[in-house]
Amino acid sequence: MKTLETDYLVIGSGAVGMAFVDVMLDETDADFVIVDRHHMPGGHWNDAYPFVRLHQPSAFYGVSSMQLGSDRIDEWGSNKGFFELASGAEVVAYFERVMRERFLGSGRVRYFPLCEVVGEGRFRSLLSGKEIGVDIAKRTVDGTFFNTSVPSTHKRKFAVAEGVACVTPNELPRQVTAHRRFTIVGAGKTAMDACVWLLDNSADPDAINWIVPRDSWLLNRAQTQPSVKFFNEAIGGFAGQLEACANASSVEDLFDRLEASGAMLRIDETRRPSMFHYATISTGEIAQLRRIKNILRQGRVERIDPDSIVFKNGETAPADPSTLYVDCTATAVEFAAERQPIFNGTRITLQSLRSPLLPLSAAIAAYVEAHYESEEEKNRLCKPVILADTPAEFMQSFVGNMANQYAWLQEPALNAWLTENRLDPFGKVVRAADLSEPVKAQIMKRVQDNMMPAVGNLQKLMAA
Ligand SMILES: Cc1cc2nc3c(=O)[nH]c(=O)nc-3n(C[C@H](O)[C@H](O)[C@H](O)COP(=O)(O)OP(=O)(O)OC[C@H]3O[C@@H](n4cnc5c(N)ncnc54)[C@H](O)[C@@H]3O)c2cc1C
Repeated sequence: MKTLETDYLVIGSGAVGMAFVDVMLDETDADFVIVDRHHMPGGHWNDAYPFVRLHQPSAFYGVSSMQLGSDRIDEWGSNKGFFELASGAEVVAYFERVMRERFLGSGRVRYFPLCEVVGEGRFRSLLSGKEIGVDIAKRTVDGTFFNTSVPSTHKRKFAVAEGVACVTPNELPRQVTAHRRFTIVGAGKTAMDACVWLLDNSADPDAINWIVPRDSWLLNRAQTQPSVKFFNEAIGGFAGQLEACANASSVEDLFDRLEASGAMLRIDETRRPSMFHYATISTGEIAQLRRIKNILRQGRVERIDPDSIVFKNGETAPADPSTLYVDCTATAVEFAAERQPIFNGTRITLQSLRSPLLPLSAAIAAYVEAHYESEEEKNRLCKPVILADTPAEFMQSFVGNMANQYAWLQEPALNAWLTENRLDPFGKVVRAADLSEPVKAQIMKRVQDNMMPAVGNLQKLMAA
């Protein structure tokens, strides 16, 4: 068996593995072997549906060293007035460029697509079956922790009778014109994208049924804009979140306050959502989604027959046999994955350090790996933060984010590097602002006054 020598073996060339290597290239002189099952860098974006876009601005997605997009403000559509959102194709092209120009161009990265890691220091070509050994001087970096699942690669969770047309969102544009009725299965961001895509393309809202097992709280994109022009919305929005956290008396009260502050949105204001996955949305998209009135709330689907939908709770709903069903039930990332120490002997397991910003989290882990010696010190600065699945878990992730941020603030070099990093949306907003302006000064005061009370109150609510 052929054996390669390297400092770091990186499993996965998704956003997380790429963001890690990108920082290490600048901060160390180490050498890397990157292995991935996909034929291109970018991970799950290679499998994405054709109308997917980032739900956050491109301005803070990808790797630290290379801009994604051109910081354009959209002038039309449901994202009008906000920073551009890269399409899936743009994200894949971006990671391909990062790999080709920056990584391979450095002479310090060897990339093995269509290969999978099959054991410690061993990977296998998915084409030839040949195994290659890797002699690793420093560590193995696991960039697969989030186990991303998208509709085109996941195993469908319900049965479909013969003759029923059920597709992934990847096939929707090709199949759409052959149907007049559509049923979207699932209520996450992919399902919302499919509904908005149909409506943007002039589908009749009454021709769409939407199976919504759980309602979701959604982040308001207006408060995620990474520019000083949006200081009042972005930093003011954060101040509002802190005030909500500082004063809430229960999880329900917290989300009511977050909604009142403009941080959170929901599609149906008469229902209390039980899901929170950080999906980010504009009020324009919400307005589109509210046009759909045929919402089925009997829970998860067990089986689809030509003339009925059978739910797991035993209930049924009548169905039109000519309907096109769109399976949007993949879970995106593994929300329930058990966190583990990021630095553990010869292994680095990349996880979230500031939820939900996974590329930023990987970049910070790389900076810490490059500049700190002891494993204890590294893990003190990189405490994994939960990716929330429910409103209650939002509190845990908020407190985790704040605890990490506080630890980083005590490290001058790390803090200076972080505030310059393009993946950190708000560092640059505060840096560029004239904080002597009364409105901005007042916002900053609200942030400072509510920081500690917010953490204290959330800890109290979590304990209760
Ligand atoms: C539709 C969608 C939209 C999203 N939009 C956003 C957004 O706007 N902003 C945001 O921050 N996040 C978004 N996310 C979350 C997204 O998951 C993360 O941003 C990020 O892309 C996750 O990257 P990853 O590297 O962890 O995972 P992946 O992209 O899944 O990459 C992991 C890679 O590891 C490889 N791999 C796994 N096991 C092995 C093995 N044994 N050997 C070799 N290779 C292996 C896989 O082939 C894969 O390429 C979105 C997710 C989805 C599904």
